[in-house]
Amino acid sequence: MIIKKLQENAQKYPNNIAFIINDKKITYKELYEKILYYGNLLKREGNSPVIIYSDKSIDSFIMIFSCLYAKRAYVPIGKCIPIDRLNKIKELTNSSIIIADDLKVLDKYKDLDIISNDNNIAYIIFTSGSTGEPKGVPISYDNLNNFINWINSLNPLNDYKNINVLNTAAFSFDLSDVDIYYSITNGHTLYGTDISFDNYSEIYDILENVDVAVMTPTFMKMCLLNPDFNESNYPKFKCVYFCGEQLDVNLVKKIYNKFPNINIINAYGPTEATSAVSAILIDESMLDYDLLPCGDINTSATKIEIVDDEIVLSGPSVFNGYINGNSIDKYYTGDLGYIDNNLLYCKGRKDNQIKFKGYRIELDDIQNNANKIDGVKDSIAIAKMNNNTVKSIKLFVITSKSLDYIYEELNKLIPSYMMPNSIEIVDHFPVNENGKIDRKAMMNL
Ligand code: AMP
Repeated sequence: MIIKKLQENAQKYPNNIAFIINDKKITYKELYEKILYYGNLLKREGNSPVIIYSDKSIDSFIMIFSCLYAKRAYVPIGKCIPIDRLNKIKELTNSSIIIADDLKVLDKYKDLDIISNDNNIAYIIFTSGSTGEPKGVPISYDNLNNFINWINSLNPLNDYKNINVLNTAAFSFDLSDVDIYYSITNGHTLYGTDISFDNYSEIYDILENVDVAVMTPTFMKMCLLNPDFNESNYPKFKCVYFCGEQLDVNLVKKIYNKFPNINIINAYGPTEATSAVSAILIDESMLDYDLLPCGDINTSATKIEIVDDEIVLSGPSVFNGYINGNSIDKYYTGDLGYIDNNLLYCKGRKDNQIKFKGYRIELDDIQNNANKIDGVKDSIAIAKMNNNTVKSIKLFVITSKSLDYIYEELNKLIPSYMMPNSIEIVDHFPVNENGKIDRKAMMNL
């Protein structure tokens, strides 16, 4: 369905821009031609998953669709992933090739025969795993097509024609599924950015062009740092789709203050259920309560249940199980939630998974990797909170090694976005009256 839509859009709007990233552009016609070319080379190389090891670029987008054309699962991996972890992913996926920045490496397959391929996995996203190993989430074509149909049916996204859509998430995170597939299947133009807090002032020129933005609440907090970001200066900006984190009522009030006519969608879902399973258009009457709904289960294409306070998902956009894991019918999200009047609410996690600056991180992933370092006896990673938001990550380590050594070694094992903001070497961890490690006490240390 995706490639067929692309072909249609290449015929309907050949000269419309499909993607713009850092001043580089590609039209629908050029994109489709490149996909045919590289997709056919990929069909000759084999049928194993293809690792796309790249930061955001036009070429990485071309590669995603070339893989879909060739029916080879793509595995998007950002450059922030250390080489050891990348190799682990290569091993877990049995990938035969890693495509980094240069697509021309594929030219060498020109003379090989085409291999027919009936792979049903569209992509594999790796998330933080509590064991210290990355966890592979395979998403099938059925999952993805179902998700695209659902996202394209959402009000008011289904109403817009020939608009500019903002992509803020790295393509290795499931949030980018929303903007990439929504934009490309509707013939819109996608503005890709890799802006973060370090260079956030560059976002405002891009935002001037944007009609619909897909982002985490953390990203919006960053945009609001500029007092001139408001409706009179940014009249095009008409809709923002949030997902990935708790959307705070106060943030919504601030947005309405600046953009009184904006449409705000709060969507909910994990990577394991193809990015998102429920969404709701926020209205002002919801702002009288502490917690905002994150979905209307009547408009969800996924079955959403609450089992012992936990949100449980099943249906056509839910994955079938982790790489090398058991196959599943229902996905127990680990999110605590409830349904009231058909609206879904998410209250937080029942485990040690956190969202930090929009990134999904298992604290156990950090400490299990720290424990692999030679000379580390034990470690505990703690999320420091402020108003229900993670403000920083601190790692406590029992070791006789130096701090510099621990930083250096940990950097080789985990992605940069998981690196603790501070590390403290201690003799022992505090324990509570039950003899258990007192994580709460450690939050204040
Ligand atoms: P990811 O797999 O990176 O998409 O992260 C999924 C997790 O993000 C979910 O299991 C929730 O813990 C959290 N999450 C996603 N959307 C929301 C939302 N609208 N409100 C609260 N938490 C959310």
